[in-house]
Amino acid sequence: MKQTIGIIGGGASGLVAAYFASHNNNNSVHIFEKQNKIGRKVAASGNGRCNLTNMNMGSEHYHGDKTFVAAVLGAFSLDDTIQFFETIGIVTTTLENGKVYPASLQATTVVRILEHELSHYNVTIHLSRKIESIKPVASGFKVTTAGKEEHFFHKIILACGSCAYSPLGASKDGYDLARMMGHTVVEPFPAILPVTITNKPLHTLQGIRWDCTLSVVIDNSVVQQVTDEVLFTAYGISGPAALSIARTVNHALLLGKAVTIQCNIFPYYAYNDVRNKLMRLLSQPDKSLEFALYGIMNNAMPKVFLSIAGIEYTLPAAAYINNIDAIINAFTHATLHPGAVRPFTEAVVAAGGVAMDEVDPTTMQSKLVPGLFITGELLNIDGNSGGYNLQFAWSTGAIAGKHC
Ligand SMILES: Cc1cc2nc3c(=O)[nH]c(=O)nc-3n(C[C@H](O)[C@H](O)[C@H](O)COP(=O)(O)OP(=O)(O)OC[C@H]3O[C@@H](n4cnc5c(N)ncnc54)[C@H](O)[C@@H]3O)c2cc1C
Repeated sequence: MKQTIGIIGGGASGLVAAYFASHNNNNSVHIFEKQNKIGRKVAASGNGRCNLTNMNMGSEHYHGDKTFVAAVLGAFSLDDTIQFFETIGIVTTTLENGKVYPASLQATTVVRILEHELSHYNVTIHLSRKIESIKPVASGFKVTTAGKEEHFFHKIILACGSCAYSPLGASKDGYDLARMMGHTVVEPFPAILPVTITNKPLHTLQGIRWDCTLSVVIDNSVVQQVTDEVLFTAYGISGPAALSIARTVNHALLLGKAVTIQCNIFPYYAYNDVRNKLMRLLSQPDKSLEFALYGIMNNAMPKVFLSIAGIEYTLPAAAYINNIDAIINAFTHATLHPGAVRPFTEAVVAAGGVAMDEVDPTTMQSKLVPGLFITGELLNIDGNSGGYNLQFAWSTGAIAGKHC
C-alpha cells in the first residue's frame, strides 16, 4: 500500500513539497487548496514577475531563528533552487540587486509549469477545499474540509502560509490548524507594508517618488537605516525604503516603544555639499525661502519639510543664511511620526508564526507530532523584501517533500 501524503495549502511551499514528495514512487500525494486556484500569491509576486530568489542569499536577510534559516538554506540552497527551476523548464534571470526572476518575467509561468509537473507526477489537487481540522488517528491523520469531507493520510504537510494579504485569500487558518496540533504560535504582525505617518503636511506629497535615507530611531538610537526610493502617499510612506523599515517600526510600536523615522531627502550629498548648495540658493536676493529651494528639490517639498520643522517659508531666503543649519536639518533630519500599524490586508509578508524550536530544520517535521511537517511563511521566520520569502518557501517545501 502506498503512503498517503496530504498537503494543506497549494502555495509556494506546498507545490514544491508536492513535487519532491511525488518523486517517491511509494507516495500518493494530495494537495488541498481552499481557493479555486493554486499559487495565487506566487502568481502575484514581484509585481507579477515573481522575484523568486536572490543571488545574495544568506540567513542575515531573515528575522527569527537565523541558525534555523542557515540550516534550511544549507539543506536546499540558492543553487539547488535555481537548478530545480532549470530542471522543470524555467530559465531564470538576475536583475537589479541580485533579484532572480523567471526569464519570462511572468509569475504565472512559475505556477503553470509547477502545475504541469505535478500532474505529470500524479499529484491530486483538490481545489476549493478548505481544511478546517486535523486530528491524529491510528497510523496518521484525519483532515476534515469545510464541507465535512473526511480524508485520511499517513503524513501531513501544513503549508497554509501566513495571514498577510487577504485580497489573495490569506487568513489565520494555518495558525489555527497548527495550534490544533499542539504547536505554539508567535502572534503574527504585518512585516512588509507601507507605514502610516501622522505628520499631516507630508500627505500633500502623495504620488511623489524620491530617494531618501530613512533612519528608524527607537529610544533615541538609530536601529535601522535604509537608502532607497520612498513613495509618498495620502497617509504616509510606501515604496522600497518604507517597506524595508516597516518591520522594525511595527515591532517597536507593538511593544509600545517610542519610535520616530528620520528622513533625509539628500541621501547622496555629503553635509558640506548640501550646505554649499543651499548657501548659494539662499543667497539669491529676490526669492522667498520656498521659491529658492525649488532649484534643488521637487517643488512640493520645501513647504512640507519646512512646515514639519516649524520654519516659516514665505520670508526672503537671504534672511535664513545665518540660520542655515536649521534649514539643512529640516531636509536631512525631518522627524516623522509613525501612526497606527497598517492592516494585514496591505502586508505582503507577516512576521510571527509557528515557534521554530518545535520544528526540525533538517526535515521540517514537527518535534511535537511525528508525521506532521510545517513549511513556508506559516513558520516564525520572515525575510526581507527581494526574493527571500519565496526562497524560504521553496527550501522548506523541498525539505519537507523529500523527507516524507
Ligand atoms: C502581493 C505579494 C507579492 C509578493 N512578492 C514576493 C516576491 O516577489 N518575492 C518573494 O520572495 N516573496 C514575495 N511575496 C511573499 C511570498 O509570496 C510568500 O512568502 C510565499 O508565497 C509563502 O509561501 P507559502 O507556501 O508559505 O504560502 P502561500 O504561498 O501563501 O500558500 C498558502 C496556500 O495555502 C492555502 N490555504 C490556507 N489555508 C488553507 C486551508 N485551511 N485549507 C486549504 N488551503 C489553505 C492558501 O489559499 C494558499 O494558497 C509576496 C507576497 C504577496 C502577497
